Amino acid sequence: MYRVLHEQYPYAHCELDFRTPLELLVATILSAQTTDVGVNKVTPTLFARYPDAAAYAGADRAELEELIRPTGFFRAKAGSLINLGQALVERFGGEVPPRLKDLVTLPGVGRKTAFVVLGNAFGQPGLTVDTHFGRLVRRMGWTTEEDPVKVEKAIGAMFPRKDWTMLSHVVIFHGRRMCHAKRPACGVCPVARWCPSYGIGETDPDKARTLLKYELAPGAERPPGTPEPVAVA
Ligand code: SF4
Repeated sequence: MYRVLHEQYPYAHCELDFRTPLELLVATILSAQTTDVGVNKVTPTLFARYPDAAAYAGADRAELEELIRPTGFFRAKAGSLINLGQALVERFGGEVPPRLKDLVTLPGVGRKTAFVVLGNAFGQPGLTVDTHFGRLVRRMGWTTEEDPVKVEKAIGAMFPRKDWTMLSHVVIFHGRRMCHAKRPACGVCPVARWCPSYGIGETDPDKARTLLKYELAPGAERPPGTPEPVAVA
């Protein structure tokens, strides 16, 4: 199933814009309860205004809140970013640490965020168990675990470490495009033949095709020769 999904989404990647581990860490914190596209709209100004951990540590709270307001929960997120900056300055010399055990000690950083950063900014394999990932691996029968940490352990044991980051992207893309929370498009799903949940969504291919969503951010480039997406209605 993974091989087929990988063939379907060979271009799957982290859609948050970033240039450094700190930028990805900040973007990932901001992405809670909102879309990557929404985060990418505020981060160019944010990253220019706060170029390093010390800048977040000493940020004017009202100004920071205003900059990140469009991402929602901006008060809590501003607090997390200031605390994050302070923790990085005080404990890690202002640098984002490249280890899971250090990352999860940072304010606002759980295992999911830590793995996003490890996998995408440090090139270390990481499984990102977000809502799409958990839903899909249960539907596809890969695990029955509900708890994200147990899901991570169960799936991690099934795949080589080198595949973890891409596996996360591919499964998340499939969740965005086809295997939606409410009405999965089972009738056009490339892994339907092996999926124990086939039929919980629309099985008529023509109707299922109308449910497909464009899984990449608007304007994102698709490599030549990869399957044509259907735009979000
Ligand atoms: S068959 Fe349906 S439930 Fe299974 S992975 Fe495909 S879209 Fe999801």
